[in-house]
Amino acid sequence: MRIGFIGLGQMGFPMFGNLSKTQTNLAGFDGSPEHNEKLRQQAKHLKLNIAASLHELQGSDVIITMLPHGKAVRSSLFDSASNQPLVDTLAKNAMVVDMSSSSPLDTIALANDLKQRGINLIDAPVSGSVPKAKAATLSIMVGGDDDIIEPIKPLFQAMGSTIIRTGKTGSAHGMKAINNYVYAAGLLAASEAMLLGKALDLNLDTLIDVLNASSGRNVATETKLKQHMLEGGDFKAGFGLHLMAKDLNIAYGLNQHAGFVPPQLALCHALWQEARQELPPTSDNTEIYRFLEKKLHTTD
Ligand code: NAD
Repeated sequence: MRIGFIGLGQMGFPMFGNLSKTQTNLAGFDGSPEHNEKLRQQAKHLKLNIAASLHELQGSDVIITMLPHGKAVRSSLFDSASNQPLVDTLAKNAMVVDMSSSSPLDTIALANDLKQRGINLIDAPVSGSVPKAKAATLSIMVGGDDDIIEPIKPLFQAMGSTIIRTGKTGSAHGMKAINNYVYAAGLLAASEAMLLGKALDLNLDTLIDVLNASSGRNVATETKLKQHMLEGGDFKAGFGLHLMAKDLNIAYGLNQHAGFVPPQLALCHALWQEARQELPPTSDNTEIYRFLEKKLHTTD
């Protein structure tokens, strides 16, 4: 099976590295020329196959994408500055596996366009941040037909430890957006808890211990607060704030189909969009804490 992997960022590069341990006919590519070249230099020592251009992924049986959003997935397949678009050069009965956190609506539209070319699309977004991507212990949600998914299951097993079938194409991206809303709401609540604790002169380290030993714990209290967000923290957990805001946009947009707007999702969505507008584009999602702190002090 010839595999092309597009998008070698914070998540994609370690996922590609783990896939390389089990697949011999695999090439990776990133759309940022500087980043791709840097990885090509690194890859020489790591024995990874990084393509010099998208062109080298022609003829692939499987294209895996790990990109910021569904629009980038579409453009990586259909746009081309000089050569034929990648989509027109793939092997017969090829498939595209979109592991990005894309909008389910973009995914369904893309699946229809690919189907006309005899290409199947599987949505397979992941949960778990950079450490889990490195350890190949991601949770992978997979949408699409069983007979198409079965032959590529070993690819998922090389990158993750929990694989959950979600239903038809688009369902995995829908569930991923809902999951990320719940994570974002948990991180917001954890940030507010820290700000309350600080204002009341409580010991924040102990407050986090209390949350983690009690019903208030969540993935943010367990893996973000002490690790990245306490006084002097690096605020670099490996997940861009702009990506979190994008995921909330997707979750919020689901109201058009659900027929109602969940009130807490509306509040959460508005706060993260405000943070995205105000903070530098490279900010990590944990910066929501310092954003909130600043916002509270300026509205005193
Ligand atoms: P990232 O910004 O670190 O990496 C994205 C990479 O895609 C970049 O290297 C960029 O150069 C490349 N790229 C962008 N557009 C491209 C295009 N058209 N063609 C080729 N390459 C292109 O992002 P990330 O943190 O690795 O996240 C990737 C996806 O995974 C996103 O959809 C994100 O929401 C999701 N996700 C991230 C995390 C996390 O903890 N970082 C966890 C789960 C899911």
